[in-house]
Amino acid sequence: MNPEDRGGCAGGRPALLCPSAQPEMSGSMILGVMGGTAEEPRLSYLEEPQPVTGDLLALAAPVQPTQIFRFAAQCEESACCHFDGSRCRLATRIVQILPAVVAALPPCRIRPTCRWYQQEGRDACLRCPQIETQTYTASEPMILAATPA
Ligand code: SF4
Repeated sequence: MNPEDRGGCAGGRPALLCPSAQPEMSGSMILGVMGGTAEEPRLSYLEEPQPVTGDLLALAAPVQPTQIFRFAAQCEESACCHFDGSRCRLATRIVQILPAVVAALPPCRIRPTCRWYQQEGRDACLRCPQIETQTYTASEPMILAATPA
């Protein structure tokens, strides 16, 4: 399935996707699988994001799916604590606080409709692979970036 087809349309434009979403959110799909180390987590992006199914979520057991996978789903905008009415403040903090961890754009299929990319451009993508939606070993900068103002 083409990620650009998911999430519906708003005013003729495709709805933007949150690239650090929850599996139960609207249109949720698996964006990638976390790897790397506890100190240097890295996302491996799927060639084709996969719609969430119970079987796929079960692969994460015994930990939470958000500890193993990154999900992309329709941005919930004002229902999300990071949204300020027009922008995702999480994406802003990620770019301001965290270092780039790759030198080239990751092979990510949701880029045309990714809110972080639409807002922050390439700088978001160069930092994106280190983002874990749920972790118990986050660094101080990561905690700072993830904490709403
Ligand atoms: S920030 Fe860039 S790499 Fe990350 S999900 Fe969005 S488009 Fe893909």
